[in-house]
Amino acid sequence: MKLLHRWGGKDREPLTGEWLEDREPATGRLLARIARGGAAEIEAAVASAAAAQREWAEVPPPRRAELLERVADRLEAESEDLAALESRDTGKPLTLARTVDVPRAVENFRFFASALRQDQTPCHAMGDALNYSLRRPLGVVGLITPWNLPLYLLSWKLAPALAMGNAAVAKPSELTPCTAGRLAKIVDRACAALELPVGIFALVHGLGAEAGEALVEHPGVRGISFTGGTVTGARVAAAAAPHCKKLSLELGGKNPTLVFADADLDAAVDGAARAAFLNQGQICLCGSRILVQDSIYPAFEERLVAAARVLTPGDPAAPGTRMGSLISPAHRDEVEGYLRLAREEGGRILCGGRRPELPQPWRNGAFLEATLIEGLAPDSRCAREEIFGPVATLHPFRDESEALALANGVDYGLSASLWTRDLERAHRFAAALECGMVWVNTWLKRDLRVPFGGSKRSGVGREGGHWSLDFYSEIRNVCIQL
Ligand code: NAD
Repeated sequence: MKLLHRWGGKDREPLTGEWLEDREPATGRLLARIARGGAAEIEAAVASAAAAQREWAEVPPPRRAELLERVADRLEAESEDLAALESRDTGKPLTLARTVDVPRAVENFRFFASALRQDQTPCHAMGDALNYSLRRPLGVVGLITPWNLPLYLLSWKLAPALAMGNAAVAKPSELTPCTAGRLAKIVDRACAALELPVGIFALVHGLGAEAGEALVEHPGVRGISFTGGTVTGARVAAAAAPHCKKLSLELGGKNPTLVFADADLDAAVDGAARAAFLNQGQICLCGSRILVQDSIYPAFEERLVAAARVLTPGDPAAPGTRMGSLISPAHRDEVEGYLRLAREEGGRILCGGRRPELPQPWRNGAFLEATLIEGLAPDSRCAREEIFGPVATLHPFRDESEALALANGVDYGLSASLWTRDLERAHRFAAALECGMVWVNTWLKRDLRVPFGGSKRSGVGREGGHWSLDFYSEIRNVCIQL
């Protein structure tokens, strides 16, 4: 398979003639050759998107909503194919791609179609004058996405960007570019079918340091929505700052799961295991630090270890598989580096920590068992740094104040999940935890209307609901003397 750039409604060969390889993480087999783009492709894609955007900005909101619905319909019609492709490209279980990644992409388009139809802007009467607000598109926006939830996150950015009348140029992760190409074709076909401007979504493949940086630095790109690692996010922010671009940064996390002695233990064990290991622990919201009240620590630990042991890694396409492959052998090496460091830092591996024995073709895959570590000091590197794999550390706490200090004692501030039956405590913690999202007796329950984003080194800004509409538009106030 060849993955080409796309702008102006057409596939485009790499201008330099250079290609990258995209390998299936679960087998190591070559899945696709990817066009390697850079500044020249970004230049062409932005110019083409800008031309289409001028026409698109004039399309009334109900017609724009119609386009988003049409894209959702097409994604839904192709969902089985898209899920299979996403699973092969990322190594995640097919069941997960089928039940989470693709349905969420469909929902993202439907949700923002509806949000656009119901959007309201304020009016402020002054007696002798009247103010009203107009939303105007930014123009061309750049969307940069990571490898863990490729279609899910790209659609989360693209749907509100188009809804607000922008054109978008996307740079998907070079490790998982496949479904972005399919989405670009779906959008173009939907535009053509509805007689709307074709070319409002352009795609440039390539490396972050080449295509990604060129997109961030392009003066014609008025906003950048970036999801990825914190170190990369800081580079993106530095490159965008001289151009005064609007910037949304959704970055890394080291999220606590806090389990109090009064929690429903069955639910807490399930919740903590899911939060630690879903998508092989490669979700920014994963609960990779499990803080447990000391009186229930031994019982909780025993049950959590049992829950982790049943997550045997294997063929991502097999119906029963809940633990697929990590994104690449190189990433698994990094995660294993943390396991060595954990031992040096005094940690004990309670379960996992090994590569599973699998037959071919999976023997060449980047699999790793679900791993739990205890005995690490809260300020050890393994307990503070984002590992982004199927690895969680366990830490006991005595009381609320120690729990809070542990939970807030890292540089990240994305999310937390809290397991307790004490409602007052839940409210106290919800207010005192330093993060953007708190779940109580659940994890990863998402309503697309709510604000999504992190604090501290987990990011800047919020997306979701009207926060996305705000990010992808400029609000203009109009004051009329009466
Ligand atoms: P990454 O930062 O390496 O790459 C993300 C994207 O940025 C890729 O498309 C990459 O090519 C591009 N990129 C790299 N260097 C760039 C540069 N200098 N300029 C512009 N673009 C550049 O992240 P990753 O390894 O793909 O993803 C994992 C990270 O993403 C984890 O830290 C995870 O927590 C984070 N993440 C955060 C959220 C969130 O919503 N907060 C969601 C998913 C993933």
